[in-house]
Amino acid sequence: MPEPITGGCLCGAVRFAYNGEVGAASYCHCTDCRRATGGPFAVSVRLEAEKLRVEGRTESFTKTSDAGRPITRHFCPTCGSPLFTHNAGAPPAFVKAGAFDDPALVRPAVEIWTDSQVPWAHVPEGLERHPRDKS
Ligand SMILES: [Zn+2]
Ligand SMILES: [Zn+2]
Repeated sequence: MPEPITGGCLCGAVRFAYNGEVGAASYCHCTDCRRATGGPFAVSVRLEAEKLRVEGRTESFTKTSDAGRPITRHFCPTCGSPLFTHNAGAPPAFVKAGAFDDPALVRPAVEIWTDSQVPWAHVPEGLERHPRDKS
C-alpha cells in the first residue's frame, strides 16, 4: 500500500491521513465559501470519504447553499482552519486544498459559482466553468 497522503490544520490539533484516489480540485466562488475561507474562493479536493481518517476534534457548521443543499463545513475549533466539507447525506468528502502537507498534489479542474466571482480572484486558465453549482 502506498504511503498515505497527510495533512492537517494550522495548530496541528487536527491531522488526517488518506489512502484513496485524489480527485480533482474545484474552485468555488460562492459567497458562503468566500466568507468561510476569508479568501476570494475555496479550493477543495474531492476524496473518497470512507478512506479518510481524521484525528483530533473538529467543529462543524451547516448552512443551506444557494442551490438548496445543506453543506457542512468542518474546521479546527482551536485555530479555526477550514478543513473538510461535505453535502448532507453524500459520502464523497472535500478537503480544503491548503490543508495538505504536500500542496503540489492538488490538480485544479473546475470552477463553480462563477456568477459570484470577485474581480480580485485569480484562477488558472482553462478550467471547466459553471455559473452556479455543478449538478
Ligand atoms: Zn488547529
Ligand atoms: Zn462554495
